[in-house]
Amino acid sequence: MERYKLQKCALCGLEKEIQLSHIIPKFIGKHLKKTSIGSIRSAENPNIVIQDLEKHYLLCRDCEEEFSARENWFARNIFYLWKKEETIEFEYDSNLNYFIISLSWRSLYLDIMNYVQEGNVEIEKFQIMIDAEKMMRKFLLGKDEDLGNIENHIFFFERVESVNDDKFLLNPNTTIHRSTVSYTHYTEDTVFTVSNLMGIIIVTMYEKGYREEWKGTKIDRNRGKIIAANQNVKSVVCGEFQYWMEEADKQMERMSETQKAKIVQKMKAIGEDIKKYDIYQDFLDDQNIKKNSSI
Ligand SMILES: [Zn+2]
Repeated sequence: MERYKLQKCALCGLEKEIQLSHIIPKFIGKHLKKTSIGSIRSAENPNIVIQDLEKHYLLCRDCEEEFSARENWFARNIFYLWKKEETIEFEYDSNLNYFIISLSWRSLYLDIMNYVQEGNVEIEKFQIMIDAEKMMRKFLLGKDEDLGNIENHIFFFERVESVNDDKFLLNPNTTIHRSTVSYTHYTEDTVFTVSNLMGIIIVTMYEKGYREEWKGTKIDRNRGKIIAANQNVKSVVCGEFQYWMEEADKQMERMSETQKAKIVQKMKAIGEDIKKYDIYQDFLDDQNIKKNSSI
């Protein structure tokens, strides 16, 4: 995807100097790098992403600051606490809803531009996206509280140790905990933006089909508590998880023998210290799935 450079701020519409904005918050990219095993990163995070750590000239400094204040809130109050396994219960206020809307809006905005360029979209679904984008923009600017039927959900992708569906045998832990992605997609009756922030799956639903079941995932506008346990999701969005795993697997297969040898060498050099890396647990869990799952 090409990098967009706008003359006006995509949010407030003012002709101010436009900043280079991240689609996925910058702190996520930093955390991914910091917890990776140096140059073997390409193996654990096989670039399955579409808008990975992509940047675009999108927002003015003032709008960017509004967004980054909420990103910091999310980083401090949810992301790091969950990643460091300090808690699974998170009290939240309106900052969380704002953060999710800002993340999904950025992604949706760019996807709408892509759809316009490529013209490969169902017109009814496209209209739903256009209406949602407008409503979210007004909300983010503080002009209108109304978000219509838009729903926000957070699903924590916990450690998977066994599965009863062979679709999930493809390294779910390493793939989902070690990657980021954000994009808009639709099916027959559901339109959504999904983002994976290293295992925290954030979904904004613009249209929700009658078969969708989301338990323990919905985020209220103002305040509430979200618990990273016993969540239950039956959704077309789950098909995306499978797609990410398949893509990661293909990427691994495409890796050259030289590259693979380099990784093995690097891991040997790290030796026992490998246990200190987050990916080690993910790796073990994925191995266990293959052992434990009686498929
Ligand atoms: Zn602006």
